[in-house]
Amino acid sequence: MTLVKSVLRNLPTFYLSLFAAPIGVIEDLEKIQRHFLWSGGSGRATVHWVTWDRMKAPKDVGGAGLGSLRNLNLALLAKWWWAFKSRIDKVKSGLWKLNIEAKDILYPDEDGITWRSDFVVNGIFNVAKLRCRLDRASHQISDGEFWWLNSAPKKVVSFIWRAKQGRIPSAEELQKRNIQVPSPMCGLCSNIVETSNHILTSCPFAEDTINKVLFWCGIPAKQFSGVTDVLDFARNWGHCPKKKEILTCILYGTLWSLWKERNDRIFKGMNSTPAKTVDCIKSMDFSWRKFRMRRGDVIVWEKWCMSPISCI
Ligand SMILES: [Zn+2]
Repeated sequence: MTLVKSVLRNLPTFYLSLFAAPIGVIEDLEKIQRHFLWSGGSGRATVHWVTWDRMKAPKDVGGAGLGSLRNLNLALLAKWWWAFKSRIDKVKSGLWKLNIEAKDILYPDEDGITWRSDFVVNGIFNVAKLRCRLDRASHQISDGEFWWLNSAPKKVVSFIWRAKQGRIPSAEELQKRNIQVPSPMCGLCSNIVETSNHILTSCPFAEDTINKVLFWCGIPAKQFSGVTDVLDFARNWGHCPKKKEILTCILYGTLWSLWKERNDRIFKGMNSTPAKTVDCIKSMDFSWRKFRMRRGDVIVWEKWCMSPISCI
């Protein structure tokens, strides 16, 4: 009986803890145990002196305490069920904080027995898709979307993203963070306190440069109130996605060059003019585009200088 308890009972425990065993399998396993118990594995037909039910019954009710495999299976599966149930509350409360209900993720099928989920793709639960949905719910930014262009270098695009939020080291932002600056005035015109929107859009130097760039692109002159205004203009301009992308890339390059001009003046004592800055923007954007061109695309410098939006 000790061997039955310690060996035959324990062998299938791992499988029984994971799967609901069919009745036939349970009966076959118990049959093996029963024969081993009474015949010692000899295979001879022997008398089963006590009923199998009594052998399985707990000792405190008069049984031998061998226990039923079926019940062991149920108990082990119930442990999973408990683990799932006890964690599902945590899942639900986490979702509740994100204003998502559990039924938005998992809902009963029409038959009321099986379950369905919009996050199951080709029969597999797509964790990445759900995580993306949760991230969107938990990080709500009212700033509007931002175009992470692939056609410009990452450091430039990151700079524009920061500039949109006013999170670049302009004199005003540095002072807000108690960082000493030699002068709080604009590094380009010295007439007004330097903010990111001023230095990149409303400073006379920036206005002149941006309008020269717009003229080069065949677009009428325009005054911008800030970086967001520039980005909104690019997003809403025209209907051709390709041309929109080129203009956006050129404007990213323009804002980046204005910041670079400001830094050159403050840290290197070098002064340029809007016309020279535009020349730099032309060659810089040209090299970005040429470097990232797909095979088969052609870009000609002369055409680029004449009309960048329509040359590709
Ligand atoms: Zn200025």
